[in-house]
Amino acid sequence: MMLILMILFALSLESSAVSNYPIKRIVLHVTDTDDKHDIGAHEIDVFHRYFVGWDGGCGYHYIVRKNGKVEKCREDIIIGAHVKDHNRHSLGIAWVGRKRMTFEQRQSLIKLVKKLMKKHNVKKEKVLGHKFFDTAKAQKKTCPNIDMDIFRREL
Ligand SMILES: [Zn+2]
Repeated sequence: MMLILMILFALSLESSAVSNYPIKRIVLHVTDTDDKHDIGAHEIDVFHRYFVGWDGGCGYHYIVRKNGKVEKCREDIIIGAHVKDHNRHSLGIAWVGRKRMTFEQRQSLIKLVKKLMKKHNVKKEKVLGHKFFDTAKAQKKTCPNIDMDIFRREL
């Protein structure tokens, strides 16, 4: 039933935005905002929509706030806008901050990634940091500002 609803939902949207399946990788990001400020999906949505000019709003699928709360920006089936030239088949998660991830954020991020790995059958090796993509290197991205080797060990 869920699948039928999802297909109907997908068909009701523009075809260009709805073929994120199968999801092959999970890409981690950081919002690169002042560690003192706790922003969320709404602020990022406004920024991406009105300042960057993306009609789809927040480019990530999930946001992990300072207190560990997970906020959803896009349904998994909708293609994100977070890793240039590799958005198709990628889920994007951003933690809020720049350098200092809180304990709650880390715990929550691990839990979320594990849940999504299971849901979409994504292997640990396919949980990647944004900066490792060719296009991110050209953009000099440092995302997700955490050690991915250590992080993957916790999955
Ligand atoms: Zn990024």
